[in-house]
Amino acid sequence: MRIYGLFSESSFVLTVFEFLKSVYWRTIGFDINISMLILGLIGGIGSGKSTVAEMFCQLGAEQIDADRIGHEVLQRHEVQTIARNRWGDRVFDHNGQLNRKILAQIVFDPSETGCEELRFLNFLVHPLITQKIEDQIRQFSESDCRYLILNAPLLLENHWEQRVNSLIFVDVPRSTRIARTQKRGWTSAELDARENSQQNLQEKRRTANWIIDNSGNLDETLDQVKKIWQNLETWNR
Ligand code: ATP
Repeated sequence: MRIYGLFSESSFVLTVFEFLKSVYWRTIGFDINISMLILGLIGGIGSGKSTVAEMFCQLGAEQIDADRIGHEVLQRHEVQTIARNRWGDRVFDHNGQLNRKILAQIVFDPSETGCEELRFLNFLVHPLITQKIEDQIRQFSESDCRYLILNAPLLLENHWEQRVNSLIFVDVPRSTRIARTQKRGWTSAELDARENSQQNLQEKRRTANWIIDNSGNLDETLDQVKKIWQNLETWNR
């Protein structure tokens, strides 16, 4: 076998291949470390996405929490100024903090007005959230992160599925989700109002590469998470 400096012929070919592959990914806009797999978590409201994300993190994954980013974006001065112009002082509490509960009542109102206000809110915050997600993906891709969980309830609605390698749907019957979100003080009507603004759950389920049944206890869910992890480890050696 011919030797190219420190490389054997086969490892030289592999190195050139890896280099060309990384150039290709960068050229088409995916400026990411290709050894990092991005897993998108989807599912109904209160299905257990955050719970499952935490389980993946316990196994060694990192997480981007789109809800948290959304909350941070709502704290921005320029966003709050526009919010005040649009909805007035009623969406702010006496400390000047944006009251997300009141805002939710406005944008998830089942009337045409509610739809219009939700469109306005999305128009305002989604580009900022997308930018922040992109920034975090880039940061993780520059670290030694191998598995990144994108926990984003509106992942499909915002077409972020183009940024993930695999989609995991967290499956739980509606009755269980009602019971679990009631612990947050939500009524089933509040759950419906939010859910009606999202893509149909059956469609989301069909789009997924993996389905985790989170209707049982936490140990049963963890077992399923570990099985997916083992599969990923086999692929991503
Ligand atoms: P959201 O759609 O609002 O972001 P989510 O899908 O992230 O919610 P979680 O917050 O993870 O859902 O879970 C909702 C509630 O259900 C939480 O109180 C959580 O502790 C509880 N929960 C999640 N999974 C289980 C389980 N397997 N058994 C019992 N309780 C659970």
